[in-house]
Amino acid sequence: MPLALATSLPALLPQAIAWASAREAEILASGIALTDAELDLARRVGVQAPERIRLALVERVPMPDDPMLQLAVETTELLGANTLGLTLGYGIYLCQGARDARLVSHECRHVQQYEAAGGIAAFLPLYLQQIVRHGYLDAPYEVDARRHEIDA
Ligand SMILES: [Zn+2]
Repeated sequence: MPLALATSLPALLPQAIAWASAREAEILASGIALTDAELDLARRVGVQAPERIRLALVERVPMPDDPMLQLAVETTELLGANTLGLTLGYGIYLCQGARDARLVSHECRHVQQYEAAGGIAAFLPLYLQQIVRHGYLDAPYEVDARRHEIDA
């Protein structure tokens, strides 16, 4: 992890939270609800309010406009060309064609993490701090989400 990124991350938090909140609002306004089978997956990974979740099926998960924030998410490999899903509160971006039980249960576990933390403004500082400290793959929230993946 580049030191500059680790030290600049706290300064980027307000932009990150604003971006995530705006994207969540868009997904909640125009996204689709989970199927009955997906609602069941969400409950099985501990989501308290699965009926609030909306999916946005996209060609690519959008990147932040802010250049520093964009650099940060690319450098940490938090977001990139290979990203298939991204959860922002109750809003989930899924790449078209990638919607399966494993990915939906993984992203729903992130919804559970947002719920447990108390929303976007509470979750993102913890999550980004984990990524700075452990790297994206070994961040405890990612390890937890992978442990809760359900194949069918
Ligand atoms: Zn994840």
